[in-house]
Amino acid sequence: MEDPQVIIGECEWCSFDELNIPAILARVDSGAKTSSIQARNIKRKKIKGDLWVEFEVNPFEDNSSIAVDCKAKVIDIRNIKSSTGIVEKRYVIKTPLTIGNIQFDIELTLANREGMDFRMLLGREALKGRFIIDPNQNQVLKKISKTQLENFYGHLILKKSGLNIGLLATNRTLYSNKRIIEAGKARGHTMHFYNLQHCYMRLDTDTPEIRYRDGSVLNHLDAVIPRIRPSMTFYGCALLRQFHSIGTYCLNSAESITKSRDKLYSSQIFSLNKLNVPTTGMAKSPQDTKDLISMVGGAPLVVKVLESAQGKGVVLAETAKAAESVINAFKSLQANILVQEFIKEAEGKDLRCFVVDHKVVGSMQREATSGEFRANVHLGGTATKAKIKADERVLAIRAAKALNLSVAGVDIIRSNKGPLLLEVNSSPGLEGIENATGKDIASEMIASIERKLKFFHS
Ligand code: ADP
Repeated sequence: MEDPQVIIGECEWCSFDELNIPAILARVDSGAKTSSIQARNIKRKKIKGDLWVEFEVNPFEDNSSIAVDCKAKVIDIRNIKSSTGIVEKRYVIKTPLTIGNIQFDIELTLANREGMDFRMLLGREALKGRFIIDPNQNQVLKKISKTQLENFYGHLILKKSGLNIGLLATNRTLYSNKRIIEAGKARGHTMHFYNLQHCYMRLDTDTPEIRYRDGSVLNHLDAVIPRIRPSMTFYGCALLRQFHSIGTYCLNSAESITKSRDKLYSSQIFSLNKLNVPTTGMAKSPQDTKDLISMVGGAPLVVKVLESAQGKGVVLAETAKAAESVINAFKSLQANILVQEFIKEAEGKDLRCFVVDHKVVGSMQREATSGEFRANVHLGGTATKAKIKADERVLAIRAAKALNLSVAGVDIIRSNKGPLLLEVNSSPGLEGIENATGKDIASEMIASIERKLKFFHS
């Protein structure tokens, strides 16, 4: 047994010779019984009658593009209760660990879930009789410099000439989808198009999987770009959650997309975040229609069907009487609607700001055809490059942030009260904005993934 007096800090560098992991920072966690290491893409193998697993370890929490291929014999499969109280079945392996000058065999469970702050936890069983924890200290037994880490893992960064990126959509011939594939290839990545309707998944704690109709298993992707049309939101978001759970980075999460698809919910989030929206009302019963109209300031007002897109479900009611009939007609059809003050001074124009990672990378003004009150290029309106003001830029960035979207198309209407948020689109189209601004917006989206995965072009 080692010297029981060895003091260790809150986290310590560990290395595993047999797993080819020269350095991984472990959180010392006396609250956990067993030690664990993050592992993804776990594959079972039978070798001479024994069960082995092959898996990838990403030693850095903030850089999942660095992956070490590991292989180990399974000594047990255990039910482990995670910090959230959920019981997971995990593989247990036994392997030599070096921590400072101390070496011993450690039992490790393979945690195949993402989201662990530390890639490794050093639990009670490994600590007992060997170490005393001083939570005031950090990396007591060994400090590793950035340069040393680069020396350790440099070959793994260089080995990758590009990322493996999947585009999750329904129609590969759409302008936006073609451009995303093109931009990814131009930046040196391997791009795959996946029709999300052809993806299917298996949920379990050991080997969650996503398969494609052509027979391939989609567990090898570094990132997916969701381009989910509104009618596919439910299935598309379920798939995205599965990708997230196997450690694939999603450019826009399922949670953010779900929020953005519900106009009322997102408006509530905006007002909670003190982001200005047009005064909006909603009511269930026709008995409340009259008061609802006066609540939002009376006619003229705009009635919006919640589950619509591209301005199709937006109606202008010029008088209180017209408003009442339209609202009650929609209600009789069981449609969920919003009632909103009409921003007359916008004169049928609005702004689309394309936000990528807290930056407006392009903006355009859309204008209605004469006689229309709505800016809608699909109905023959026009889109032109726009110069936006500082407060509009701030509003766009904060709106994307409120929904936690890395990529967002933020629609803003200019009113006498200042800019107001109309809606935030989580799969904004590229054709209009690229044509109006002449910018390579698709490439900005790919660059966002590179930043997130810390991929550097060599
Ligand atoms: P959709 O999601 O269906 O595109 P929007 O809420 O973006 O619906 O509205 C479509 C268009 O209608 C906007 O681009 C804008 O020009 C116009 N519009 C929407 N709300 C208002 C409003 N409150 N006042 C004036 N015009 C509006």
